Amino acid sequence: MSYLIDVIIHTTIGIIVTVPLWAKPFLRKVLFAVFIVSSLIDIDHFISAKSIHLKDAATLRYRPYTHSITFAVIAGGITFGITKSPRIGVAVCSGIMSHVLRDASTGITFILYPMKLTKIPVWVYVMSELLIFICCLVLRKWI
Ligand SMILES: [Zn+2]
Repeated sequence: MSYLIDVIIHTTIGIIVTVPLWAKPFLRKVLFAVFIVSSLIDIDHFISAKSIHLKDAATLRYRPYTHSITFAVIAGGITFGITKSPRIGVAVCSGIMSHVLRDASTGITFILYPMKLTKIPVWVYVMSELLIFICCLVLRKWI
C-alpha cells in the first residue's frame, strides 16, 4: 500500500512541476508523458533485482543508475528525437528529474551518475523541485 502511495506522490509532484508546460495542443501529450515517466520509472528496480516481486525490488542496496539526472537528460533527448517536440522532451526530463530528486532525499540514489553523489537533504530536494518548475516556466516561451 505504501508503494502505491509513493507512486501517487511521485506522479502528483511530477505533474505539478510541469504545469508551465501545459498548453494546447500539447496538454494531453505532456500530461501523459509526465504521468508515464513519473510513475513507471521504478520498473528499473524490478529489472535491477531481476525479479517480479515487490519485496526484491524494494530492498535493493541502492537505486539503479537509471534513477539519475543523467538518465533524465538522455531520456528527454531521446523523447525529443522521437516526437520532434521539445516540450514533450522537457516534460519527460522534468518528470524523471522530479522523481529522482525525491528518491535522493529518502535513500541511496546516484543522482548525477557516474558521480558518487547519492543523497541530498530535504531542503535541497524542495529547492530543486522549485527550480524544475521555474525552468519549465522559462522554457515554455521557446518550446
Ligand atoms: Zn524511484
